Amino acid sequence: MSKYETEYLKEAFKHSRLHKQEILQSCKPRVFLRGESCGCFNCKKIFKPAEIKEWAEEGNFMINALCPHCGMISVIGSKSGFPVNDSEFLEELNLLFLELEKEKDVNLLNEFNKFRSHDRGY
Ligand SMILES: [Zn+2]
Repeated sequence: MSKYETEYLKEAFKHSRLHKQEILQSCKPRVFLRGESCGCFNCKKIFKPAEIKEWAEEGNFMINALCPHCGMISVIGSKSGFPVNDSEFLEELNLLFLELEKEKDVNLLNEFNKFRSHDRGY
């Protein structure tokens, strides 16, 4: 039994990739926002925006936070309104991600993989 509904998680998943301005609002290290935090649904760590040191960039406006722990683009900022501090939330998001990857039916995943190989050489 999941704590969160699948549709809710899918919505949250989008916030890790498509709403980049929003991610930046809570994760941009230079704008140190007290009380804001980020969660990574890949390694499931929770950390402060200031811990993010690396960014993946493409074009002039697509900027994504790289998780300071695992180096993946799988960070969601608390500004998204999702409970990024809840480890269960990150866990379920991770499971959903793995499921989507299995189905290979989501364009987001293609983008995800593109970025993954783009900046980290994975
Ligand atoms: Zn991570």
